[in-house]
This record gives sequence, C-alpha cells and structure tokens, in this order.
Amino acid sequence: MTVSAIEFSRLGPPKLRLYAMRCTSCEVLSPWWEHHHCYACGGADMVEQELAGTGELTNYTVVYYPPRDFLGQEPYVVGHITMDEGVLMPAPVVGVAPEDIEVGTRVKATLRRMKLGHEGDIYYSQKFVVDAESAPAT
Ligand SMILES: [Zn+2]
Repeated sequence: MTVSAIEFSRLGPPKLRLYAMRCTSCEVLSPWWEHHHCYACGGADMVEQELAGTGELTNYTVVYYPPRDFLGQEPYVVGHITMDEGVLMPAPVVGVAPEDIEVGTRVKATLRRMKLGHEGDIYYSQKFVVDAESAPAT
C-alpha cells in the first residue's frame, strides 16, 4: 500500500486503490495484508475486494516520537479505522490537530505523500482525512 514515486509513475494510481481481502468460502473480509489465510474460517482462497474509502475512527494513537522516516511530521495521528465494509484499516489521519480528533469521527481515504525515502525518493500511500459530510454506517 506504500509505493515510491518511481513506482507511482510506473504503476499509476490504480495500484494504490484501497482494498481488503475477501474469503471466497465465507465472504468475510480481512485486512489487506491477510493474503493467505481467512481468520474466520481458515480458508486459504482470498481475493482482493475494493473498499469505498469511507469509515469511522474506532481508535487512534498520537505519535510524538516518530521513527526516522517520519521525522518532522510529528505530532501525527495514526488511526484504527473501521471501514464501512466492516474491515479494519490502520492508517494516518491527516489535516486535523491531535487535540481535535475523537473516536467516532467519520473519515475518508485520500492519497498523500507518506515519507521521504533514504535516497530522497518520495513514497505515497493512503491516508485519511476527516469527512464531515459522509453518513454514518448503518
Ligand atoms: Zn473464510
């Protein structure tokens, strides 16, 4: 889900689409990194399923002492987002002050610069912004 600017220009934005892994046996969605194993039924046949990109913040952490690659971005918010499809997506939440963020906030995915690589290459990934207009999941 994170690609460098070089990969970005080669692969284009479609590679950065938001997806989860759907089990073909029980249809339960797993987070995108669960490529080989369904946690619900143990099935091994997982296919990518695109997500609409909206969800709700269910938990978050404010990072004050970031790893080296993210120095200069602190403080920043890393959220646990429950997508409207029901699957968990951990991702940074940007454009909002850490003191203004709260659990239950509606968020939507956006493509942003993620970090500067060790050789000056720029990495892009999905981040989330507050989405005041989107309707809560029902
Ligand atoms: Zn399954």
